[in-house]
Amino acid sequence: MPERCRVCEVVSEFFGRAPVLGKHDVAYFRCRGCGYVQTEEPYWLTESYSEAIRNTDVGIVERDGMFSNGTGYLEWVFLPWAGERYGR
Ligand SMILES: [Zn+2]
Repeated sequence: MPERCRVCEVVSEFFGRAPVLGKHDVAYFRCRGCGYVQTEEPYWLTESYSEAIRNTDVGIVERDGMFSNGTGYLEWVFLPWAGERYGR
């Protein structure tokens, strides 16, 4: 089954492989439609996030807000049609 772009749902082509977390050999795919590069289904997220959030990390909410605003801006600039899709 071909990989579908998580942004525009067009078929994505194999782009390459690279290690994630230093041990998972992960495949990357590039969308034929919008050029978005994504990984295969991310099976390593539980492992990845198990150590990413610590009780002593007091800046996590601030960083989440900052990155959220940045992501929204990039989407507005580079993917203006995506706003219509998500009702913005
Ligand atoms: Zn796409």
